[in-house]
Amino acid sequence: MTPSPHVTVTIDLARVRAAAERAKREAGVDVYAVVKADAYGCGAAKVADAVAGAVDGFYLFTLAEARAAGVRWFGKPVIALLDESEDAAVYREAGVKPVVWTVARARSLRGASAIVSVDTGQQRFACAAAEVEAIVKAGEINEAMTHASRLEQARAFDAITRPLGLGYRHAAGTALLGEPGARFDAVRPGLALYADAVRVTTKLVDARRTDGPAGYGGFRADRHGVILAGYANGLRPGPCLVNGELRRVVEVGMQSAFVELDDRDKAGDEVVLLGDAITSHLVSTTWETSQQEVLVRMTALGQRRWT
Ligand SMILES: *Cc1c(COP(=O)(O)O)cnc(C)c1O
Repeated sequence: MTPSPHVTVTIDLARVRAAAERAKREAGVDVYAVVKADAYGCGAAKVADAVAGAVDGFYLFTLAEARAAGVRWFGKPVIALLDESEDAAVYREAGVKPVVWTVARARSLRGASAIVSVDTGQQRFACAAAEVEAIVKAGEINEAMTHASRLEQARAFDAITRPLGLGYRHAAGTALLGEPGARFDAVRPGLALYADAVRVTTKLVDARRTDGPAGYGGFRADRHGVILAGYANGLRPGPCLVNGELRRVVEVGMQSAFVELDDRDKAGDEVVLLGDAITSHLVSTTWETSQQEVLVRMTALGQRRWT
């Protein structure tokens, strides 16, 4: 996928910051800003800079991502789920806490402030309940996490880890931010930081009356327009706004797409693909995918700018 030169992706860093502050206020525990995958396409370094004063740490997928962002993470703790290195010094030097789910890796990363990852249903990047204690001992571990999306999973995590008397535990991403029973010592929101902060727009390059079946698939409309973004840029059919009214991207081609229009819509008018009434939730139901995927695709659709 390549970004369309005709689409503008605007990331409102003040809104990301406000969402981080809201998470902190409402959860009342530490907040780790999840900035993996270049902060869901919002720009990890820029997001880190914007939220640093509001959060207690950062979470990424790999140590390589943490390094690539090119920021020192403001002296806050950083968690990286995956990395090949078995050398505790590598993590200490990078200021990154590794995540472990085997006795062997816990042992070799002793002294690197490793976190044990406990399986509560995802069945990946985590150990079974019966293994947690041995891993904690082998790695002299004081911190546990799980990747929970349902309250029962957070409860299972609590039952497994509470008897071990660990100093620091966390389970919740965006799905469980509102659940006091899933908060423990920290929360790890990703989506909640970015969902209201991204605006994706383009312009109609054509607007006309539709004469019989149009496009590849023979769609019918009273009027239609064309935008210069297509599936080569990651676009899919779905809702949009033209002149503040709900319209539809009816058919997507390689590098252009058809939009259903009203009488007053004309060439040059702005088309909002994400933002205002076009929420990531609305798009995700149309695209039949997660809001996280919508954000990653939408931020990759065009030229990013930050406000
Ligand atoms: C991605 C991720 C999160 C954040 O998930 P959201 O649903 O986007 O808030 C939290 N924890 C872990 C372990 C993750 O991998």
